[in-house]
Parts: sequence; C-alpha cells; structure tokens
Amino acid sequence: MRLSGVAPESFVDGPGLRYVVFAQGCPHECPHCQNPGTWDAGAGQEFSARQVARMLRQHKKTRRGITFSGGEPFAQAGELAQVALAARRLGWDVVTYTGFTYEELIGSDDSDIMALLSASDILIDGRYVHELRDAPARFSGSSNQRVIDVARTRESGRVVLWEEGRDAAAAPKIGRT
Ligand code: SF4
Repeated sequence: MRLSGVAPESFVDGPGLRYVVFAQGCPHECPHCQNPGTWDAGAGQEFSARQVARMLRQHKKTRRGITFSGGEPFAQAGELAQVALAARRLGWDVVTYTGFTYEELIGSDDSDIMALLSASDILIDGRYVHELRDAPARFSGSSNQRVIDVARTRESGRVVLWEEGRDAAAAPKIGRT
C-alpha cells in the first residue's frame, strides 16, 4: 500500500488517543482539500500491511484505536482491511474516513471494500464541502459528512450516527460481517 504518512498520536481523528494512518491517493479532489499532497496515488511511500502492523504493536497498550485518513482509504481497501484486523487483534477500535458516502460503499460488490467497511467501527463519510464547513459534526470537516456507527447501521439497514459512550465503538467485534 502507499501511505502519505502516519501520526502515532492524535486526539482529533476519532475518540480517544489514536494512531492515524494516512493513505496516499485520492480520486475525489474536493475543492479546498487540506491535504492535496495526498491526491497523487503514485506519491508517498510503500508499506506492507505487516510493516504497519508492527508499527502499531509498539503502541499496543497506549492507544484506543486506529484511524484511516487520507487520501482515500477505500482506494487501497484490501491492504488497509488487513491493517484494521491487526489493530482489532490489539483490542483497538477502527475509525475510517472516506470521500465516498456509506450508500456508495455498501452498494459495491468489491470484497476489499466490504472487508474494510466491516472492519470499521466508525465511518466518517462524504466529500469535504467547503461551503458547509461552519458547523460540522465532531471529527468531521463539513456538515454533510456523517459520523456513522457501522455495526448499528448494518444491523438496522438505515444510517445510525455514532454516539460517544455507546458500546459499538468501544468494544471491538472481531469477525463481524
Ligand atoms: S476526500 Fe479528503 S483527501 Fe480526498 S480530496 Fe476530499 S478532502 Fe481531500
């Protein structure tokens, strides 16, 4: 996989203290994107899922979870899903940012996309819309982006927003489909 970088310590990319992995490459090209350096899929640096898993293990006891940001994580969904499962084996939860909407992802027949979606506790979806930047939800950049509780959404068949303190994001559910 190609990454633009990692941030081993973040409090702003999801609940609690998190390890953030920034995917390289983004097809969305949102105007006023804060990370246009992540757009070029050929830039950044190559990592294997095993390498990233080793990096996570160094912080095993001190992080609540991993966050995939971008770039577009779902453009490299297969390998990032492997990293997500490695994080879950550490007892971490998984937050994934995407420029796609939940509806676009759930309609895909790509098994890699479904694997990363299934491994995510929270999905923050949708492109960044600069005109909607004034009152975003917590952890999002513009108010069209939703902070979605993935397990509850898939169980109920309608989008359920994540709420701090509910068990879905706090308790990893390894093997959920
Ligand atoms: S999806 Fe994110 S990284 Fe991609 S262009 Fe939009 S704001 Fe930038």
